[in-house]
Amino acid sequence: MLVMTPEAKAMLRKERRRERDAMRGKLGEGRHRALVDRLAQVIRTEREAGRIAVPFNLEGPLRHAIRAKLCREGWRWSDADAMARDLLDATFNRLGAHRPPWNEGQPEWLIEAGTLIQRDRCARRGCGKPLPEGHRKFCGKLCRDAHHTSLERLMSADEDAALDMAVGRE
Ligand SMILES: [Zn+2]
Repeated sequence: MLVMTPEAKAMLRKERRRERDAMRGKLGEGRHRALVDRLAQVIRTEREAGRIAVPFNLEGPLRHAIRAKLCREGWRWSDADAMARDLLDATFNRLGAHRPPWNEGQPEWLIEAGTLIQRDRCARRGCGKPLPEGHRKFCGKLCRDAHHTSLERLMSADEDAALDMAVGRE
């Protein structure tokens, strides 16, 4: 087993911080902050509206939306993905959201705890149809895709506005 001295650990931490700062630098400090603000706001809004139960419910679609946006700006996929993860980590930190331990993420845990909250209506805004057998969130592919596209649109539209504010444009 690899045992590291405290000095080596400190060096590694410093190196990771340097890499992270370099990556954030590529995005720009102002834009990083504006994006985290915006992401936190999107998650809060969706949560208050009851469309998600925990902040992490949006992690997948948001990571996809940010990554897609950065890729369209010419970022390499792996850099865009790492940046998306970094932004979401910062957002969850901001929201004070802590990941549940593995066992709490399993269906048995919820059932045992008697807290299984089952959605019975489609989650897409404006649909709300009863969910067909075997569907847990959306009534069909159409609603699922529309939901994810609208998240992506929300992100890009509002990010431009947030970016304008961050750099002092009108
Ligand atoms: Zn639907």
